[in-house]
Amino acid sequence: MAGLIPQDFIDDLIDRTDIVEVIGSRVQLKKAGREYKAPCPFHNEKTPSFTVSPQKGFYHCFGCGAHGTVLSFLLEFDRLEFPEAVEELAHIAGLTVPRDEQAERSAPTAPIYEILAKAAKIYQQALKDNPAAIEYLKGRGLSGETVREFAVGYAPGGWDFLLRQFPDREDVRRDLLAAGLIAPRDSGGFYDRFRERIIFPIRDGRGRVVAFGGRITDAGEPKYLNSPETAVFHKGRELYGLYEARRAAREVKSILVVEGYMDVISLANHDVRNAVATLGTATTHDHLKRLFRATRTITFCFDGDRAGREAAWRALQTSLAEMRDGRQVGFLFLADGEDPDSLIRSDGNTGFQAALQNKLTLSDYLFRELESQTDTTTMDGRATFAELARPLVELIPAGVYKELLTERLSQVVGLGRQQLEEFVATPPVTVHRPSRISNRPSLVRQAIETILNHPQTVAETKLPAGLDAVEQKGMSLLLELIGIAQQKPDIKPAGILERFRGRSECPHLEALLAADSTITEVSKKGTQLTDCLQRIIASSTQQRLAVLVTKARDSSLTDDEKDEFRRLSITSKTADPG
Ligand SMILES: [Zn+2]
Repeated sequence: MAGLIPQDFIDDLIDRTDIVEVIGSRVQLKKAGREYKAPCPFHNEKTPSFTVSPQKGFYHCFGCGAHGTVLSFLLEFDRLEFPEAVEELAHIAGLTVPRDEQAERSAPTAPIYEILAKAAKIYQQALKDNPAAIEYLKGRGLSGETVREFAVGYAPGGWDFLLRQFPDREDVRRDLLAAGLIAPRDSGGFYDRFRERIIFPIRDGRGRVVAFGGRITDAGEPKYLNSPETAVFHKGRELYGLYEARRAAREVKSILVVEGYMDVISLANHDVRNAVATLGTATTHDHLKRLFRATRTITFCFDGDRAGREAAWRALQTSLAEMRDGRQVGFLFLADGEDPDSLIRSDGNTGFQAALQNKLTLSDYLFRELESQTDTTTMDGRATFAELARPLVELIPAGVYKELLTERLSQVVGLGRQQLEEFVATPPVTVHRPSRISNRPSLVRQAIETILNHPQTVAETKLPAGLDAVEQKGMSLLLELIGIAQQKPDIKPAGILERFRGRSECPHLEALLAADSTITEVSKKGTQLTDCLQRIIASSTQQRLAVLVTKARDSSLTDDEKDEFRRLSITSKTADPG
């Protein structure tokens, strides 16, 4: 997504944007020293623990742990998708986002999007030409308006209906294949993947068709068929109906996660326009992140059968890691044999809303489920309860929500709050733990922290030679940061973070940025950095020397190693690590 917006432009945008102005226009900020404070917009609180640092271009809440750059703020607060957030900032800064249209058109995925859009039109037309399929949809109670809104179509029978609508050319067949619309025959040639099925186009956040779901109209198998994973379709990321739900309301107050596309459409048909469905997979972290970008309240709605209950428990486990304060997750269990489609058709919108009132909160569901597995009237049972709850509670990010849940847990198991926290914080004995962990951050980490918080120090620091040969944890990240700071001496910490957006290092960098509150002269920081880098080299030399000394004792040094030994012995005397 972001690939088509040049990184230089994002650097520039972060550099020009006043984070205090952007956040301040949405949340009332008060100046406090070099930073600004406000009651956190992401969780309920009375004393302000939400801080904004104009120097870093970064916000952080000490209460719920929400933090990030001005772009992250727009993603979370305005609930924009990334390209929209960039557009918004560019608009404020009076800039135009340089969308590389050439690149967009020549992107390898461009012909796939094009062919999927064409196929969607063809299927829609085929529905109009097929009275039996129309009758089927009418029989399911769907209005023409709903069918049009979701661009529902029909794939007629035969093996080459779709193939025949496209030119008989090799490049076209290659695109159809890449789009997942046709499959190769064992005997050579191709055939349509979707036949005799009602077709549901699956659209991405920008409204582009990325895949199709197909439902059979009679007794055939399989009942549901989805496009395979392609370059533009990843099941673990897309949600059926999310684009439509966001289009239907200016603000999506809550989202209902249901099991199938018929549920989504049937609900929309009865004016419940906030339902989405995963596409034949369990709910993933990616799904939840996208959903929480659109709303703060999510309700999972599962069938009452065994499969539904299992899916619900998996959804609960995935949700725990996303339970930041201010977010709500609920679970609605329908009666066995009932699904959202059947319920809304029998009871209507009012009946469905009434059923929704019976949803369980995440914590109610969690406790009910664990209680059903243990006997909390006995001490053994309560111990088992705590044991079962421990790995689940650990998944929740620190914050008020976690505290409340821990509080409730301490009541159920009858342990004092502190005892319980110690119990929860202690890993089970089977987990191997190094006997002693030093609390002092490693030198590499110290250097990373300095550069991240004060990128301009790199320009003022004479980098010691041999840094790129050091083999220590975090070195590649450190070298990458040095590279960025050398290339862009004026980059803000937030600008560095944006370069790591979506990468696994990003949360660590955010945490380092949130932790640092030192107010030190930049020149002093420069001296500290030089000192730190020299000590990294020295300690690496010492480590290597220790290895060589051991080998020398066994007389197993190669000639090269003897040279290295001599060289290192001299360096280590001139640069004592102290
Ligand atoms: Zn907060």
